[in-house]
Amino acid sequence: MDAAASAVSRHKLHPHETFAKIVTGMVPRLEAEIRKPATGTPEARVDTSIAYKDAAYAMLTNDCSPLVTDRALALNRARLDYATRLSGVGFWYCDLPFDFLEWDDRVKEHFFFPPTARVTIDDFYARIHEEDRAPTREAIEASIRDKTAYDIVYRTVHPITAEVKWIRALGGTDYDADGTPTHFDGVTVDVSAQKLDQQRLAGLNNQLREQDRRKDEFIATLSHELRNPLAPIRAAAKVIASPKAAPAQVTHAQQIVERQISHMALLLDDLLDIARITQGKLQLKKETLALVPVVDAAVEAVRPTLDGKNQQLDVGLPAEAVLLDADSLRLSQVISNLLMNAVKYSDPGSRIELRCTVQGDALRLSVKDNGIGIAPESIVGIFQMFSQVDSVAGRSEGGLGIGLALVRGIVELHGGKVEARSEGLGFGSEFIVYLPLAARPQAETRAVSDPAQASSTRRRILVADDNKDAAESLAMLLEMAGHEVRVAHHGQGALSLAQVFRPDTALLDIGMPDMSGYEVAQALRREAWAADIALIALTGWGQDSDRRRALEAGFDHHLIKPVDPDQLAGLIANDVPAGT
Ligand code: ADP
Repeated sequence: MDAAASAVSRHKLHPHETFAKIVTGMVPRLEAEIRKPATGTPEARVDTSIAYKDAAYAMLTNDCSPLVTDRALALNRARLDYATRLSGVGFWYCDLPFDFLEWDDRVKEHFFFPPTARVTIDDFYARIHEEDRAPTREAIEASIRDKTAYDIVYRTVHPITAEVKWIRALGGTDYDADGTPTHFDGVTVDVSAQKLDQQRLAGLNNQLREQDRRKDEFIATLSHELRNPLAPIRAAAKVIASPKAAPAQVTHAQQIVERQISHMALLLDDLLDIARITQGKLQLKKETLALVPVVDAAVEAVRPTLDGKNQQLDVGLPAEAVLLDADSLRLSQVISNLLMNAVKYSDPGSRIELRCTVQGDALRLSVKDNGIGIAPESIVGIFQMFSQVDSVAGRSEGGLGIGLALVRGIVELHGGKVEARSEGLGFGSEFIVYLPLAARPQAETRAVSDPAQASSTRRRILVADDNKDAAESLAMLLEMAGHEVRVAHHGQGALSLAQVFRPDTALLDIGMPDMSGYEVAQALRREAWAADIALIALTGWGQDSDRRRALEAGFDHHLIKPVDPDQLAGLIANDVPAGT
């Protein structure tokens, strides 16, 4: 007590000051007197004190100021109201047994009642979401019966708009001396925002789990798809190696190997492409081009599979010439992917339609089949990566589930869009691509290399690859095409051989142990005689950055292994532009 008084006097507060902040930790109510040091006569006394935040406040009075007490009480009240308002907490009080409920405005707001409403226990339950009503009743009864804290979250529902709030209610019961419950009081807090956050997080979590599941499934499918061609390749290799194999069998085995390798190369290309698209690294080589050759190339690519299933393809093209600003290879990849799916997912002997029409300033390209169709719930995510509709028919056709993701990625890079339609399972499917038409007239028609004429010119070709089998087999193919070929198995060897052989074309592997293909190319380009020879890089790396690096090192062309012999022959024979 004296401590309080001396604390006040030490701070030289005038006794008529309404409030004096006394040191932290004071008891909420205290009594003390402040006396004049000289005479010891009382000058003021502490009338009321409260604890507020970290401090205790005392109201000082000198007996003649009841006004001071009122002002202090009013201020306390205001502070409490302010804190209550800020906290968003509503207060409720009920005499037991329940009848009329005393709610403050905030609780009424939590239950969508106006401040003037009088509320009964029936109103309370009526506004609680029907699924939460029974658990809430049970929690209240348990709390009163077992003398435990009441703490529950329920939803309240607006009777007209059906707006929902998530409310947390906390409270407890008072009992009289004989244990009869007399009051059930407590607070409500609106926790809708936290609930929404929780629901959003749960949604994200589910999405992640779903993506994870699809990735696992994809890895399993990928292993399966890459393993599949190995068995026929192994068997074919045995046939070729066998002295008992008839020439026709050897030829057949070779065809099997070629087919399977092309299949694997396509899978790997798709994988690389999708990785580029998801990383935003796929760059289009756009030019103004006519639609027809692009469609022709796509149809050409699917023709063998189409014929294999004895299916009929109807192609409808617009009468007028259609020009697009597009990457011709990528665009025909889009069309052939859609056609290939139509072939895969419809019966042998069925009919597939490819229709191209001009709609305003866009091309509308539709691929329609009357195959297995797509269930409405599967259409939504069908363009997502790794999405494969779980049906026996779908699965048995193989594939990685990335074809449509690639289609969408490429179409969107062209500023277009793609959609899928189906009347449901068994009713066929239609995939529609919209692409903007080119604004400019076509600059020139592109020359197409003809591999059939490839071998008409005899070249001096240097092949350098540390993989002996790869180098030898390539050399054999080139020799069979009528070229003169020399082989080196490392970079230095390639350079020395080049000095004497003076090739007009060099096919250089990039990853050689002593010198990279880039270094060999740079060294060759420094020789006057080699300034204009054709340099072709052979590599397993197909990123655009690899291609750029090769061109910077002096290469004219960049081919990804396994090299398509026809493409190579065409490249060697025709002086096609660099950067292919
Ligand atoms: P993949 O064909 O390699 O599985 P895609 O991305 O090309 O992968 O296709 C994803 C899925 O969409 C397929 O697994 C298939 O279930 C479904 N689908 C695609 N095209 C068709 C179609 N024309 N008819 C029916 N279902 C299709």
